[in-house]
Amino acid sequence: MKFTEFKLSAATLKGLKAHGFEVATEIQRKVIPPMLKGRDVVGQAKTGSGKTLAFGIPIIERINEQIRRVQAVIICPTRELAKQISEELSKAATFTKIKTVTIYGGVSYQKQLEKIQHGAQIIAATPGRLLDHLKQGLKVRPKIIILDEADKMFEMGFYEDVSLILRKLRSNHPQQFGFFGATLPNQTISLAKRYMKDPVIITIKSMVEESIPESIEQFYYISADTGDKFNILINLLDELENTHEKQGNGIKILIFTKTRIETKRLSHELNQMGFRAAYINSDMKQFSREKTLERFQSDGTLLVATDVVARGIDIDNVTHVINYNLPQDIKSYIHRIGRTGRMGKKGIAITFITPEELGIINAIEQKFNTTIKRRYFHKRRRPNYL
Ligand code: ADP
Ligand code: MG
Repeated sequence: MKFTEFKLSAATLKGLKAHGFEVATEIQRKVIPPMLKGRDVVGQAKTGSGKTLAFGIPIIERINEQIRRVQAVIICPTRELAKQISEELSKAATFTKIKTVTIYGGVSYQKQLEKIQHGAQIIAATPGRLLDHLKQGLKVRPKIIILDEADKMFEMGFYEDVSLILRKLRSNHPQQFGFFGATLPNQTISLAKRYMKDPVIITIKSMVEESIPESIEQFYYISADTGDKFNILINLLDELENTHEKQGNGIKILIFTKTRIETKRLSHELNQMGFRAAYINSDMKQFSREKTLERFQSDGTLLVATDVVARGIDIDNVTHVINYNLPQDIKSYIHRIGRTGRMGKKGIAITFITPEELGIINAIEQKFNTTIKRRYFHKRRRPNYL
């Protein structure tokens, strides 16, 4: 179904078209019509299925652009996500006067307040900072309130904050609520019961949620020990850089480690071996996290990250995901490798395991009814640059 088949304004259609959005995804097809009518919606669909525009398009349609005050508030777990949401909304709102402000910690309160006072109609915020603003007297009475990645927010311990925010945002006027996430935990349901009126509940089958896209090819290497693993990694990276250089197309590789410390250590070791690797983790200041992501997006090739930071971030054109360690649980495997092969593009996922972890590879294959092919490492000596 094309966006032109929805009852959307000419300006929104133009904005969508200008950014290459033509056919609605499944969740968008199901969420947009009831939300346009003002219905409350609970929406569950896997990561990467287009939930942002599913609620974003109705928000833009329902906002009165002549009124220069906050009409919609979107609450989401991370700063990166808040920025990403406002960017996505700005695309659809390109040909309107609608302005979005992002509210998150680590930056000046005053600038954020000024933007609100200058007439932004949409707030995309993380719970902590939004609550700070509200406690300090910020008054907003939005007609639309969205929780995005509600499941993730609750997982991160934001349930109390989110509940408090919802209470503070309540007004006597009718309000529309939309709660979204990749899963539907009890907390989402209980908030829905408390706040929503006769909600439309949309779940895109969990079979779909738990299937690995055909566009991702999966491999694994068995390494004997840590030293061996690093050796395999650098040889692999050499090979990838060489073949892609010959073919003239860029590579963007996301490497996952288990801990924050490891992101730093591994990228440092890679840099010492002559690679250009950056790292990102939640210890870093907001500003450097943003810069790191921007740089990776524009001309980076290697980024070492933890699950927490990577989830929910939409980095374009990741060609390879490398699991330098297996994730804590099998579900995270899908989330990690889902950073590549997005929207039908090709992607490659490579996982490093120890011989004892072979059983986990088998478990992943069975659970997701997929094949992860074994690759062998042929010892080569890499010229030592240093
Ligand atoms: P989710 O929130 O479900 O994880 P996003 O809203 O972040 O997914 O969307 C994932 C990616 O898909 C984004 O890059 C977004 O721009 C793109 N996208 C969303 N809707 C469409 C569409 N209808 N057609 C093409 N690309 C889309
Ligand atoms: Mg999302």
